Amino acid sequence: MNLNYRRQPLSLEEYVKGVKTNNRAVLARAITLVESNASRHVTLAQEVLTEIMPNAGKSIRIGITGVPGAGKSTFIETFGTMLCEKGHRVAVLAVDPSSSLSHGSILGDKTRMDQLSRHPRAFVRPSPAGGALGGVARKTRETLLLCEAAGYDIIIVETVGVGQSEVSVRSMVDCFLVLVLTGAGDELQGMKKGIMEMVDIMLINKADGTNIQAANQAKIELSRILHMLPRITEGWETKVQTVSSMTGEGIEECWSTVEQFRTHLIQSKQFEERRKKQAANWFHSLVEEQLLSSFYGSDLIKNELPQIKQTVLQGQVSATQAALTLLKKYQQNK
Ligand code: GDP
Repeated sequence: MNLNYRRQPLSLEEYVKGVKTNNRAVLARAITLVESNASRHVTLAQEVLTEIMPNAGKSIRIGITGVPGAGKSTFIETFGTMLCEKGHRVAVLAVDPSSSLSHGSILGDKTRMDQLSRHPRAFVRPSPAGGALGGVARKTRETLLLCEAAGYDIIIVETVGVGQSEVSVRSMVDCFLVLVLTGAGDELQGMKKGIMEMVDIMLINKADGTNIQAANQAKIELSRILHMLPRITEGWETKVQTVSSMTGEGIEECWSTVEQFRTHLIQSKQFEERRKKQAANWFHSLVEEQLLSSFYGSDLIKNELPQIKQTVLQGQVSATQAALTLLKKYQQNK
């Protein structure tokens, strides 16, 4: 196959072969294909995905969250590079629904993860731009499968510590990490309790220089608090560790905790269960996404919605009544 991959349209076979043989140019184009909303691309993208499915699913999927400034990209750079040096192949993806507005709060800036993105065993892909969380998450999930089929055995999915994106990333990974900073009490108050209950490993980042003592103190406090919270993974109490993404201190330990966690998941039969849950979640969210887009995309609803909405805003009709009327019209029109 001696094609100019940038210009010529690729056939289904070329996409599939290119992905499976980890031709990076083809992989990048396959990702662009699944990210496209054009209907001719959607059909081809789904055919590619169907073909590569048997080769997907063999990685460990790791989610990483943390507020902006917590050190996520620095951590992924250090952690990912270490994993590549160990012989792994690492893909880094992102779910950042804000990226279309703010030009990316994560992975948008090309200088981030500079070293890792140049590593021959790594593949770094920014968050797909494109509005709502549902769409961004779907594209990232499909990209994850493509990367697995291309032989990446560790997939890192990064997200920002705001909005609903954590829930979405949690539902597509095996192991979920949060990066926090010292000043445990304040940090916890700032963090939604729901997120605390979703994580498997908590890393106190920037444990270096004059910050070491505070980080160790935070570790004690956070462990105590986490001990009292319900566990997301049966038989696994959220581990708290200190780490410095800058010096690399604690990075090896972090990987060994991820490995311990994976062993625990497999031995307790939760790994398969979690993967099944991931597939079920995905299926349901696709159904919801399709329903919403066919509803809001229909000409009837586009015509009727503004008027009915107006009657609600003016207090003439209750929201429930208006919604039911609209849905009934939609169903009758099909
Ligand atoms: P992100 O917004 O979560 O991706 O955070 P960044 O990785 O961009 O890091 C935010 C800032 O914290 C940058 O100036 C980093 O250099 C710094 N930083 C990240 N990790 C560490 C660390 O382990 N130690 C120290 N001292 N600074 C760090």
